[in-house]
Amino acid sequence: MNSAHKRSITFLNRFFLYNRICLACKTLNTVLSKGMYSTFRKIKIFLIKHTSFDITVKEPANIQLSINKTCNLQCTFCARQTSHIREQLASDANLEMQIEFLKKNSGLFKEADYINLAADGEPLFHPEIKNIIETISAASKKNNIIFVTNGTLFTDDLIDSIVRSRIMEVHFSIDSLDRENSQFIRPGADMDRIIDSIKKINEKKKKLTSTFPVLVMRPTFISQTIGELPSMIDFCAKHGFSSILVQNMQIYKKELAEYSLVNSKELVRNNISMAKDKGWQCGVEVVLDAGVENIEQQDPDSILIDLDNTDAEPDGINDHDIMVADLTKKCVFPWDFMLVQTNGDVYPCCFSMYLLGNLYEETWEDIWNGPRAVALRKKFKKNILPKECVNKPCGIGRV
Ligand code: SF4
Repeated sequence: MNSAHKRSITFLNRFFLYNRICLACKTLNTVLSKGMYSTFRKIKIFLIKHTSFDITVKEPANIQLSINKTCNLQCTFCARQTSHIREQLASDANLEMQIEFLKKNSGLFKEADYINLAADGEPLFHPEIKNIIETISAASKKNNIIFVTNGTLFTDDLIDSIVRSRIMEVHFSIDSLDRENSQFIRPGADMDRIIDSIKKINEKKKKLTSTFPVLVMRPTFISQTIGELPSMIDFCAKHGFSSILVQNMQIYKKELAEYSLVNSKELVRNNISMAKDKGWQCGVEVVLDAGVENIEQQDPDSILIDLDNTDAEPDGINDHDIMVADLTKKCVFPWDFMLVQTNGDVYPCCFSMYLLGNLYEETWEDIWNGPRAVALRKKFKKNILPKECVNKPCGIGRV
């Protein structure tokens, strides 16, 4: 591969944005246009399959930092409410990422397209969130930081810092505008305070004549709330949200199965249709996550939303790799994505247990193109899914 070819791949790598579900935050369900997404995806898949692109990639385009595993709320449907996650958290000695750790790895943040600060907790609950935002902003060359928040913990000082920093998008997890539904899903979340914070962010953007951060609405729907979707478009238009990412609530407990959107497919389709019409009229882009899209398109392989995960048993590691046809069409995370856990462990996504390395022991460059990462990319090109990716919520290697 000549250097121009390498450069063009790097260029495409920058612009390539893909559509995946993500257990904790679903951040990479991009709000960019599907047209652009699919074109770049097709080109990238072609290059991955037909070039030597498997060996090294300059840097990850998308980074997810699990800056904390703590949260101020106890939401009804949250995976953190399952007994096995509670047990894991209770014995976890690394619940928060340290500032010094971020400073040491600052080179990682320079060129990334996305740095998502949310994975396993509420990022604004980290006691040093302001310092974290300023540290990563100082290291990065462009507005590339995003985070998903329940919106309950903004302060005036934090809002000022966010609007002045390199935050590209703030995603609000607001699942319902109806107070009763809202309290059922997110007990204790103060909707008045959330709306007040949204207003203050918009005022601060106006005062500083900044277009950033872009506001994104990220409701996660259950059968009882999907009817609110069209009215949420009005809310978005009124409060300066550029887009709404419609997500399917993952159900982790059998007793909550009745709330799954799979029970209301027709209702889902009708409300999506109404929301899209309304969104088009008032300039709010409506983007569907993979689970909702499966329902909309009546996909019989609706793997992301079936209910056989309801027990949420701890993920085990399968005892052998499996073959998956056209694997690089289904997942290109090994070429793009780096998940960093609070303890420094690095994975190719938030589902996989394929450990790439640890940032307390190695540099990010050594991990990103190290033997484990290269071996993973080679496996993917040969349609071999490693055992650490089998039976994960992405559904790609379900056996
Ligand atoms: S196949 Fe592996 S790397 Fe890709 S999304 Fe699934 S668990 Fe993650």
